[in-house]
Amino acid sequence: MVLFFSILLLVILIYSNYFNNKIYFKDLKTYDKVEVFTDYKKDDKVVACYGNTLKCKKIKYKVQGRVNTKKLGVYTLTYRAKKNNKETSANKKVEVIDTKAPSLKINGVLNSVCPNGKTIGATYEAVDNYDGNITNKIKYKIKNNKIIYKVTDSSGNTTKKEFDVIIKDEEKPTLILNGESTIYMSVGNKYDEPGYVAIDNCDGNITGNVVVKGNVDTSKKGTYELNYSVKDEYGNETVVKRIVRVFPKNNYVPGVSNNKTIYLTFDDGPGAHTQRLLDILRQYNVKATFFVTGYDMRYNELLTKEHDEGHTVGLHSYTHNYGVIYTSIDAYMQDLLKIQEKVKQYTNEESKIIRFPGGSSNTISRRYKTGIMSDLTKKVEEIGFRYFDWTIMSGDAGNTKDSNKIVQNVINGIKEDKVNVILMHDTKSYTVDSVERIIQYGLANGYTFAPITMDSPVVHQKVNN
Ligand code: ZN
Repeated sequence: MVLFFSILLLVILIYSNYFNNKIYFKDLKTYDKVEVFTDYKKDDKVVACYGNTLKCKKIKYKVQGRVNTKKLGVYTLTYRAKKNNKETSANKKVEVIDTKAPSLKINGVLNSVCPNGKTIGATYEAVDNYDGNITNKIKYKIKNNKIIYKVTDSSGNTTKKEFDVIIKDEEKPTLILNGESTIYMSVGNKYDEPGYVAIDNCDGNITGNVVVKGNVDTSKKGTYELNYSVKDEYGNETVVKRIVRVFPKNNYVPGVSNNKTIYLTFDDGPGAHTQRLLDILRQYNVKATFFVTGYDMRYNELLTKEHDEGHTVGLHSYTHNYGVIYTSIDAYMQDLLKIQEKVKQYTNEESKIIRFPGGSSNTISRRYKTGIMSDLTKKVEEIGFRYFDWTIMSGDAGNTKDSNKIVQNVINGIKEDKVNVILMHDTKSYTVDSVERIIQYGLANGYTFAPITMDSPVVHQKVNN
């Protein structure tokens, strides 16, 4: 009985299979893989059948969907076949994968490596077939005098390379101070650290690791030392120092005479550099004397500034033309009164302080009139003017254009026991460049800077004509 039913079931199964035709696909994988950048050919082993499992009648089929082998991902292809109003579809997933490991190249010789893995004189590069340049994904490990580089692409493929190296860093970091290594300032001013930069051959910019020791007390006169130090990862240390000299402000008080006095005098201006000079003088409370000319109208307003900031505006010449002013007393006086008038217009003061163009000892005036300087030096004093020559030449009238040399000339000339009247020209940029250092020297050595007044000690040179 059981056997009978079993045979019957089998017959029914075979019968239904045989006669009940359907559409199906043969050899269709539901999942497939393809390497990126290769050709994915549609799997033409797939056959669409009409019939049953025992008998396949091939029929046509269509494939919908596309596999982009240039881009990693999973793509779905749909196979469709149709016959006698029956339709069947089946899906196939195709994954585009990357199984190739990136290339890792070292260029140059790797014999010495920084403790942090930085290579000196060698470069490395990693390129992946899919990700492109992935040099920035290179990782390294240092172990037992070996450096092991490792790079992994976005699909997880890894390339490793290992080299024997000597790990060392023999170079100290470079520590550069911004600003001067000696800074001069006066009491009461604020010390602003000009900063620094530290660069190490191995560690790169390590400015953040710089340690500054020492302090500057600007409320007290003195010499202060600041120590800047920085260490690289290997332990190499660089130390530099900066000196800050704090000295008293210029203590010139009108009407009070001082033993050690310096008179800065500036001829021929005002000019293009006078404003900068005034700024420097103001910073140090230093008063000076300007022997001015009248022909350049562009800087007229500076005459007012010079006066208002406490400097003496003295008279040099309106025209500064030797061939005119040294031809006669009258010609000189006309020129002198003209510059006096102009100065009065801008300062509301009648200046009687003079400096002769070329000084009272000039010999150039011989070309125009014999004895003119002898006459003029007497005449101007007779009518209430006072003329001032100089005792120290800065050398800026032609000998030098080097501000360092000017500073040196002046410093060499300054003496405690003489009247220090310095001849300079505010029409020259290199002269103005030198002034701050001269002031710093003077203040640091206990001198007072004063403007020339009618009461100042008279400095006269020997008249030569
Ligand atoms: Zn001059």
